[in-house]
Amino acid sequence: MIEFDDDKLHEECGVFGIYRHSDSAAHTALGLHALQHRGQEAAGIVTYDGKQFHSHRGLGLVGENFSSAKVIDRLRGQSAIGHNRYATTGETVLRNVQPLFAEFAFGGLAIAHNGNLTNAMALRRMLVERGCLFQSTSDSEVIIHLIAISRRATVVDRLIDALHQIEGAYSLVAMTGDSLIGVRDPMGVRPLILGRVEGAPVLTSESCALDIMGAEYVRDIEAGEVLVIDDSGIESLRPFKPTPSRFCIFEHVYFARPDSLVEGQSVYEVRKRIGAELARESMVEVDLVVPVPDSGVPAAIGYAAEAGQPFELGIIRNHYIGRTFIEPTDRIRHLGVKLKHNANAASIRGKRVVLVDDSIVRGTTSTKIVEMVRAAGATEVHMRVASPPTTNSCFYGVNTPTRDNLMAANMDIAEMADHIGVDSLAFVSIDGLYRAVGEDGRSASAPQYCDACFTGDYPIPLTDHDGGDYGRQLSLLTEAE
Ligand code: SF4
Repeated sequence: MIEFDDDKLHEECGVFGIYRHSDSAAHTALGLHALQHRGQEAAGIVTYDGKQFHSHRGLGLVGENFSSAKVIDRLRGQSAIGHNRYATTGETVLRNVQPLFAEFAFGGLAIAHNGNLTNAMALRRMLVERGCLFQSTSDSEVIIHLIAISRRATVVDRLIDALHQIEGAYSLVAMTGDSLIGVRDPMGVRPLILGRVEGAPVLTSESCALDIMGAEYVRDIEAGEVLVIDDSGIESLRPFKPTPSRFCIFEHVYFARPDSLVEGQSVYEVRKRIGAELARESMVEVDLVVPVPDSGVPAAIGYAAEAGQPFELGIIRNHYIGRTFIEPTDRIRHLGVKLKHNANAASIRGKRVVLVDDSIVRGTTSTKIVEMVRAAGATEVHMRVASPPTTNSCFYGVNTPTRDNLMAANMDIAEMADHIGVDSLAFVSIDGLYRAVGEDGRSASAPQYCDACFTGDYPIPLTDHDGGDYGRQLSLLTEAE
């Protein structure tokens, strides 16, 4: 598993699917390009041309794998699914790159998964005992084997049979010879959206993948919904017992692209509202509000407007730095922060500054940025964070450090302020965050979102961790190698 390069949680994966479009592979490549922020380690596309499946998968960015017309031309067919990967389980090697594909007695099936299964290890042990041979170390392969051993008659019924055995967070896009299928787990932790382009149905993690191709947004797939798209139309199935949904609130804070609609809300507007809540809760007298780019920008705009304080781009981000995790040593990782950000000394020299960031995970980036802003001449440096302290790891498809590496799990606010070197530090409250997403506050008896990384209230059982350490998302790699 990739180690952490900076101070952010790393989002999961992006999935995309399109049914009956003459240019299905090119549209899928475009969609994956728009979803690139959800996973940069690998990308893959599988198409079906009415007779056979075609697949191209590779490590690296979408543009590195799908910019050649030759590759797109080889991916023939009117249906396609695609996947951007950020590993939460399993190592980054080609055999783990999705979409996963298998030939069954009933035909071929390709599957792309965003999320993480929390009972994958238990299921894998059971499946191996029954003679299943695993090709990858990805948790998603468990679904393929459960489909293979199901005794149900149709592929949709086999898939539903498999879904009843898995636990965890998942948005799935699957493709058979004659259908495209979209699934969200019973609590709808990860997003999945239905759109349409030139009459062809599209499934995607976020609406920004619709905008890139001029597709229209139709609706979000609902929690616990299985959507089957074939030549007879679109059928919505509800195979699970209804459960209150618990969408990942961190999608609003950081993961989703700000120009996306998530659960029907503009991510950008929600982030500005979080900033406004933050200002109402913990405004500090300063001369300038400065965002930590890029993800802190919308919250900083909301904060500055609410506080009535000037907003300046006091830190500039270099967009051409690439992925710092290619240099995995601590020394280089710290250097990566300096390569990525630079203080705009002309605007901050001699000023009292409040920095607004979306989240702090380990504290390494924040420490360097504060140091840089002071060195550029700021007379006071305060920090306001547009999410509550991240005190717990995520087990639902987000690559998280162990709890010992989460700053907020090990220090109180004063210690954290001291550690990163600010004059004052404050985080938005959990109720403030809920207000920003349109609730009155967090319902203690029935929380409306998954917020486990802030509260420790895990809505889906962590079966693979029962009786064990909750500090780390288990990797199947350890068991498989
Ligand atoms: Fe999202 Fe945090 Fe829940 Fe993970 S634990 S699904 S990051 S809210």
